[in-house]
Amino acid sequence: MSQRTFSIIKPDAVRKGYTGAILAEIEKAGFQIVAVKKQSISKDEAKGFYHVHRERPFFDALTTFMSSGPIVLLVLEKDNAIADLRKLMGATNPANAEEGTIRKKYAGSIEENAIHGSDAEETAAFEIGYWFAGYELL
Ligand code: ATP
Ligand code: MG
Repeated sequence: MSQRTFSIIKPDAVRKGYTGAILAEIEKAGFQIVAVKKQSISKDEAKGFYHVHRERPFFDALTTFMSSGPIVLLVLEKDNAIADLRKLMGATNPANAEEGTIRKKYAGSIEENAIHGSDAEETAAFEIGYWFAGYELL
């Protein structure tokens, strides 16, 4: 069944000029781009987005990194979008990511790992609503 997920091309990948290549990988894998916007976010916006990780030791570094430069916010749609995007992204640490995955190809480290993808239906709904208004998702 058709499903929506939320993704971010993170600041490291945008800085290195990988935006187009990553979007091409996403489209080649069969995702429709429902909505896309490039913007810089504040540290507070990053904290709200990653609030589930607020107790983790890397929370401050993560939110500083995510607000360090422009990112690309995406709403994507296809059958089984949430699981399929996670598979296309590869493991959180690019050193453990499978060949051919986006993180294997474009990520530099566990922190600067090129792409985010929602991990469940409830998080996808929260994350889409956090960054996009209803009128942007028609
Ligand atoms: P994302 O949520 O960005 O899609 P993920 O679901 O693969 O990534 P999470 O466990 O949700 O991984 O962690 C969120 C992000 O926090 C990671 O993508 C990474 O940038 C950072 N992170 C996770 N674990 C570590 C760690 N041990 N050290 C530094 N940063 C980390
Ligand atoms: Mg996650």
